[in-house]
Amino acid sequence: MKAFERLLLENKAWVEEKSTQEPEFFLRLSKDQRPDTLWIGCADSRVPAEIIVNAQPGEIFVHRNIANQIIMTDFNSLSVLQYAVDVLKVSDVIVCGHYDCGGVKAALSKQSPELVVVNKWLMHIKDVYRLHRDDIENYATDKEKANRLVELNVIEQVVKLTHTSIIQQAWRQHNRPVLHGWVYGLDNGMLKQLIMLPPDTPIEPIYQYTETLLAS
Ligand SMILES: [Zn+2]
Repeated sequence: MKAFERLLLENKAWVEEKSTQEPEFFLRLSKDQRPDTLWIGCADSRVPAEIIVNAQPGEIFVHRNIANQIIMTDFNSLSVLQYAVDVLKVSDVIVCGHYDCGGVKAALSKQSPELVVVNKWLMHIKDVYRLHRDDIENYATDKEKANRLVELNVIEQVVKLTHTSIIQQAWRQHNRPVLHGWVYGLDNGMLKQLIMLPPDTPIEPIYQYTETLLAS
């Protein structure tokens, strides 16, 4: 059986299982979504957001990309953020990275001639390395350095969220969401909290929007 055929079969089995457990399951979900949480994670197949926190459909609004990045020219992640914060009114945003991340490891290497587009995406992680070079180079092995960059990359993305008008406006007007940075261990399945920024967290002045803009 081909991989995609197995997926379609598994889908049928899943529909049956869910419908048996709760006959109205799909009818209920088809009406509305009210997730409390936005999850920004890595696209890595081993870090499936809902599965590792045992969440059900409807609980988490999910965006995943290579190495869980928020990039200010990326309308994809910013649109997800705006919709989650302004329309779904989520109470929490979680950026979740993972140790042994292929994207982060690639960012610590030379640029690959075959991956000209991916190189550009990874450039932002190279910037995180440059910002924290002294911290990262304190670690002895390449694995430890990469894993420290994984942590710092998560923290940087959480801080970067505070630089968006979306978060600044929601913090001032609605006192939410709380921002979290987590990291996942592929070898033990555990999540670790790295940073948590509540809505009253000071933002460096050069990144602050003026009151006038946020009032509009
Ligand atoms: Zn990854």
